[in-house]
Amino acid sequence: MALRVDLHSHSTASDGALSPAELVRRAAAQGVGLLALTDHDTVAGLDEAGAEADRQGLRLVPGVELSVAWQRKSLHVVALGVDPAHPALRHGLARLQEIRAERARRIGARLAKHGVAGAWEGASALAGAGQLTRSHYARYLVEAGYCRDAEAAFKRFLARGRPGYVAVEWVAMEEALAWIRAAGGLAVLAHPLAYRLTGAWLRRVLEAFREAGGTALEVVAGQRTQPQAVQQLAGYAHKYRLLASIGSDFHSPANPHVELGRLPPLPQGLEPVWSRWL
Ligand code: MN
Ligand code: MN
Ligand code: MN
Repeated sequence: MALRVDLHSHSTASDGALSPAELVRRAAAQGVGLLALTDHDTVAGLDEAGAEADRQGLRLVPGVELSVAWQRKSLHVVALGVDPAHPALRHGLARLQEIRAERARRIGARLAKHGVAGAWEGASALAGAGQLTRSHYARYLVEAGYCRDAEAAFKRFLARGRPGYVAVEWVAMEEALAWIRAAGGLAVLAHPLAYRLTGAWLRRVLEAFREAGGTALEVVAGQRTQPQAVQQLAGYAHKYRLLASIGSDFHSPANPHVELGRLPPLPQGLEPVWSRWL
């Protein structure tokens, strides 16, 4: 049987529901042989995940998902195969964590002004020791009875233009890519169609990403990536000479639509990014 690969997933170190060890055990149970843990702006889960991967006989790629800015657009870059102890990456992540914490405080203050009390405290409690993300705010809003589900929480409170939205300037994409390269990693542009860019803007992003040293494109971004989207992204991978990555972006077993390692196959003729490690 072909090696089952999943190069994008989250644990309780950021906004995932499973601890790093639980995530690795679930991946192993799903037949995943090569897994990347890619928490938002932190490598805090990698030690625990690596130890469990050794026990499970699964290969873990050390990763992290960085929030970056390019031309005032927010993008996500998945870094794969990084040395989590590298000083350039560590300092960079510390900066992103500060930006994230400051944004979280401002979201809490804005929600309080709009009659949602205690949101910062509630979301912080849900995040525990992990990175405090907008998903934690969404969960708090659901648990406190303000919204029916996380999607409604984003629509009503957290999305751009809503009362709890705070625009932040993440670090520049070029800078984040330099940290990733310094730490020996490869940069993957995550879920390229999730930014809702026009074709012209997406091509500009891809060109700049390649120019700045980006290596790969998530051609299969989640279990529900449609065949036409896969074809479109495969075309971009060829055009911009990027390798191809695949990842579920798994966050929680509560989501019945996303499972670790359950992904449509890569189209023929693309070079998989994991060929660099196998
Ligand atoms: Mn997330
Ligand atoms: Mn993302
Ligand atoms: Mn993600």
